[in-house]
Amino acid sequence: MKSVWLLALTLSAGSVWANHHSDGEHEHEHEKSADHAHHDEHGHDDHDSHDHSGGIHQHGVSRLEAAFNGSVFQAQLTAPMVDWVGFEQIPNNDEQRATLSDVKALLQQGGIALIGGDCELESVTFQGFDLNKMKDSDHLDLSALSTWDCQSPQEVTGLGVTAFEHFPGMLSVEAAVITATGQIAGQLNADQPTLEMAN
Ligand SMILES: [Zn+2]
Repeated sequence: MKSVWLLALTLSAGSVWANHHSDGEHEHEHEKSADHAHHDEHGHDDHDSHDHSGGIHQHGVSRLEAAFNGSVFQAQLTAPMVDWVGFEQIPNNDEQRATLSDVKALLQQGGIALIGGDCELESVTFQGFDLNKMKDSDHLDLSALSTWDCQSPQEVTGLGVTAFEHFPGMLSVEAAVITATGQIAGQLNADQPTLEMAN
């Protein structure tokens, strides 16, 4: 279901995107053809391998879900474990355990930067890092939930995924942001790590 929701967001956000680019029409064309190629790659359109809720993920593809609630902005970045730590299993030696805690320390900065709005990062909480709760599975996710408090939330102009700088395995991020005025969605990557937000 979530993939459908994201797709709807992507489509409805098309006009928002266009406004941010001088050659909006071109950008829109791009988006469509990218979508098309994506589907071709998998052979058919209506499969559900993009349904992230089932725990099946695509390595290299993270997702970002974010929302404003008054002056508080929250963003949850979720990645396939392998993209952040280089393996995808319950750590079974000291080196792997150290890698996991190093990554967690790195993400204390959130992995995301808000642009404008005079926002202060208040906290980062983690999911998936607790060794005692980790499940033995073929696919594991890690996520970091960052919470900011903004002096001027209406002046936030975008968010940048700084995690790209640290994790080369993160090839793209599917981002969906709910703002005071609407919803914005986009696909980000190391070359284009910033999602512009019209508030
Ligand atoms: Zn996996």
